[in-house]
Amino acid sequence: MPRYEYRCRACGDTFELSRPMAESSAPATCPVGHEDTVKLLSAVAVTGGSGSSGAPAPQGGGGGGCCGGGCCS
Ligand SMILES: [Zn+2]
Repeated sequence: MPRYEYRCRACGDTFELSRPMAESSAPATCPVGHEDTVKLLSAVAVTGGSGSSGAPAPQGGGGGGCCGGGCCS
């Protein structure tokens, strides 16, 4: 069962819950009992899924471009 990380905005604590993926976005209650929590992006691998726009193309700072080699300045 995947683990999800949440942060409580009431006490600032972070906690993990193991819950079915179908309940990943369901409200979580912190160990103290606060309900004002937000789900954090964790290392849980998301396979498939929806709304993924892909990684943005790398730009700048690569060292391979013109401006990365110092020829522009
Ligand atoms: Zn709390």
